Amino acid sequence: MDLVPVTEGATRILVPAPDPTAPFPPGAAPVFYNPRMAISRDATVLLLRSLAPGDRPADYLDAMGATGLRGIRIAGEAGIPVTINDRSRRALALARANAARLGLAVEIVHGDANALMSSRRFGAVDLDPFGSPAPFTDAACRSARPYLFVTATDTAPLCGAHLRAGMRRYWARPMNTEYHAEVGLRILLGFVVREVVKYDRGLVPLCCFARAHFVRLHLRLQDGASAADRTLARIGFVHQCRACPGRAEKTGLLPESVPCPSCGGATAAIGPLWLGEIGDPDVMRTMRAGLATATLAEGPALDRLLALLAAELPTATHYDYHVLAKRLGLSPPPIGAVLARLEKAGYRASRAHYAGTAVKTDAPLEEMYGTLTLP
Ligand code: SAH
Repeated sequence: MDLVPVTEGATRILVPAPDPTAPFPPGAAPVFYNPRMAISRDATVLLLRSLAPGDRPADYLDAMGATGLRGIRIAGEAGIPVTINDRSRRALALARANAARLGLAVEIVHGDANALMSSRRFGAVDLDPFGSPAPFTDAACRSARPYLFVTATDTAPLCGAHLRAGMRRYWARPMNTEYHAEVGLRILLGFVVREVVKYDRGLVPLCCFARAHFVRLHLRLQDGASAADRTLARIGFVHQCRACPGRAEKTGLLPESVPCPSCGGATAAIGPLWLGEIGDPDVMRTMRAGLATATLAEGPALDRLLALLAAELPTATHYDYHVLAKRLGLSPPPIGAVLARLEKAGYRASRAHYAGTAVKTDAPLEEMYGTLTLP
């Protein structure tokens, strides 16, 4: 295996030389490495660096380490004792060499991630597979005390493009709407909730986001049946009108028959999914403040992402105001003007972190239309 050095954040490691003929993402490489996930690793490094001393996890498991990059960055850049696991011996040999070269005392474990997570507890468990985390989430919930971090790169099943695969993996019904990225994030969160609450534990999202080809969750688990009940109370459905862009959110384990709040027409239920907040404003504020002293791969992009997340309304959907303007046969105004007009009319309004033409608001659809028709 030919190796080449790469630097990500403050960490320099060796990764397999890219094969220019291979498809992307490089699922068939001898050891998996994807530079496009740098911002996901950055976010975890920054989050762990930002926790107050009493909140820092005692140790951290990189359950699917591959080159070891994620775990090695946590060890070197966040100063937390790290265990890296993988079922591939080739991957582990590379991870071990990468850690040794940097003089980091990282524990290397060879085996199945589910077996390890079923037998040991870690202050933070990170599931960063290639594809779906669904087969690993149950064991990860049992191992994580209290932090659980999860990546999913199977956005097509999560977002409704591969409907049946999404239903099989996440026991939820997605729909390919204009807000499909948010649906994917919230279906994954809803799935993790179901895996957690059966153990009489709840969860609090610290910083969760959707990017082009993946979803990333940073969660803190809480012990106790009442925490689990509070968490379960945030599960519900988005009811999307079949005839117009109107939609409603309703909590509950079963979808109710909810008419479109805009036109009264029939709706289709999307979910079950998470209807609560996707981040903790204090945690994200501290993360942003920590950017100044961290050496990250995607610092400016992460700064923009955190700023958007901090300002984002917790609604589970958005309106694509370009789509609405098109329905009205109008050319769309700048997004800043739309947000300002909604706020002036007494509503709350924000952007969404994952799409440039997304408007989140508590205003009804008619008010959105009114905003777009103003001169
Ligand atoms: N977290 C890595 C990417 C992981 S790619 C990064 O940041 O770059 C997925 C890895 O999971 C592969 O190395 C694969 O060998 C490993 N893997 C797949 N199934 C596994 C299992 N059941 N237990 C442990 N490792 C597994």
